[in-house]
Amino acid sequence: MNAAPWCSAALLLGCLGALGCVESARPRSILLVTLDTTRADRLGCYGRAAAGTPVLDALAARGARFERAYTTAPITLPAHASILSGSPPPHHGLRDNGLAALDEGVETLAEVARRAGRRTAACVSGFPLSHLFGLAQGFEFYGDDFGGAHGAREGVIQERRADATVREAGDWLARLAPDESFFLWVHLFDAHDPYQPPAEFAQRFAADPYQGEIAYTDQQLGVLLAQLDALGRTADTVVLVTADHGEALGEHGEATHALLLYEATVHVPLLLAGPDVPARVVPTPVSHVDLAATLVELAGIDDGGAFSRHGGRSLAPLARGDAAGFAARPLYLETYFPRLHYGWSELVGLARDEWKYVAAPGARGADGRARAELFSPASDPLERSARADAQPAQELADVLHALRAELEASAAPLTRHVATADEMDALAALGYGGMDVLAELPSASADSPSAQDPRLVVEAVPLLSAIRAQAGAGQFEAAERALARLEALAPGGIVLHEARGDFHLARGRAGSRTDLERAADEFAAATALKPGRRGLWLRRSEALQQLGRLAEALECIDHALELAPPTPQFLEAREALKKRVETGR
Ligand SMILES: [Zn+2]
Repeated sequence: MNAAPWCSAALLLGCLGALGCVESARPRSILLVTLDTTRADRLGCYGRAAAGTPVLDALAARGARFERAYTTAPITLPAHASILSGSPPPHHGLRDNGLAALDEGVETLAEVARRAGRRTAACVSGFPLSHLFGLAQGFEFYGDDFGGAHGAREGVIQERRADATVREAGDWLARLAPDESFFLWVHLFDAHDPYQPPAEFAQRFAADPYQGEIAYTDQQLGVLLAQLDALGRTADTVVLVTADHGEALGEHGEATHALLLYEATVHVPLLLAGPDVPARVVPTPVSHVDLAATLVELAGIDDGGAFSRHGGRSLAPLARGDAAGFAARPLYLETYFPRLHYGWSELVGLARDEWKYVAAPGARGADGRARAELFSPASDPLERSARADAQPAQELADVLHALRAELEASAAPLTRHVATADEMDALAALGYGGMDVLAELPSASADSPSAQDPRLVVEAVPLLSAIRAQAGAGQFEAAERALARLEALAPGGIVLHEARGDFHLARGRAGSRTDLERAADEFAAATALKPGRRGLWLRRSEALQQLGRLAEALECIDHALELAPPTPQFLEAREALKKRVETGR
């Protein structure tokens, strides 16, 4: 990845082109755009009719469109860490939003670009990418002001609309001196749930507001690209657009993303345009870990090999039509979300050539081996027919095993992020189901021996939410029916304890002592299984307080305190409880 030949080629091509030598004398710039929660098959250029994505479609028409691009993990922070570091989660260490910050020792695209003399800025749109979580390293400017207090609206993540983010990015670009080159990362969060596009798009896509968000995002990307053009920077800027992950929209029983690894959430759009990128459709499977290496090569930046050490590989040859050496390359996929939140098995897998293989290492099938599924997504994109081909399954299982061991051996140290109470509230509002707080970091080698395969119990997630909502609203009969369905599902992990705890606590608040006792027991079982979840300790404490078991209630509060710094109100409540314990009243 020597920079020099690229620079001279760029100069030569620029001088021959219509735009003249002045602009081309500038080193190349990079514009990276990440669209949150955007399924590839929702864009016109990936085959969707009436998608409302003319800007993305035009970008695809003038550059390379990768038909099979994969995220490393269908979760915002881990996916972006992979994009920016060229390494998968077992190396960079981030397995979920909010738990930890990217270690300073991990080399990022912004750091490399800045060392190479580029001005660097990021404009992000959602709390999971707040500077708190380590992705700001290397950026001179990191725009993450989402406006208003975190968690101001229950159930809604702190975010800002694309127009605000694009305006900030455009203002930053406009302030650059004409001879300065840049690396700019723009993240647009709109397509993440809730799906509430601006009025014009809400009307146009009344039956499908998710599509409306995508169309709105496309329009705002158009504003950004028009500004790049107006500044005379299109000819020497490498533009890459992708999504951090997709959205399940009910496929395979999943509503949003993070829990499973089907194409709906791991197959992402990937468009690359700019100097030296001819128009082409690339069928070869590629990964987010390839993006950093690709961008530095096309921009003529020497990364010293940093982005090719953990499976990443520049896609520049593929973009030029040279697929030699890209066959049989295993692309790693994972989600630890099921383990972290519910005590189920994580899912890990590979995309390679026509195949996709996903295993639940903690869940054993009847034959005693990890439960696994094999699909051929190119011919079966909805993954409706699991393949029983034993030969590729066994081979891919072996490749996956070896790859995980290799990646874990190179794991970066983790800086645990101790969130403030406000951040905790913002995280709780992420809408990922039960994410009150998870003050624990997974260790990949700690596979639970007999966990559930999340693919078999995915229905438990909406049931758990329904039970909490219905019982909380006093609809005990409906909640009881949902609880019976959950019990029949036998979800394992902490799920039944939490659901029963929520149900009995709600009935206990209405005055039933038996229910309060039952709630205290269920939450005791849940905290024993998952001591890192603050919300479980707090609900256990509430049941105990109402039962008058004040000393035990105080102990639970103190456990919760160990997990996260408290708000003043929280401390006041603790003091009041402590007095009651001391006076025995
Ligand atoms: Zn995301």
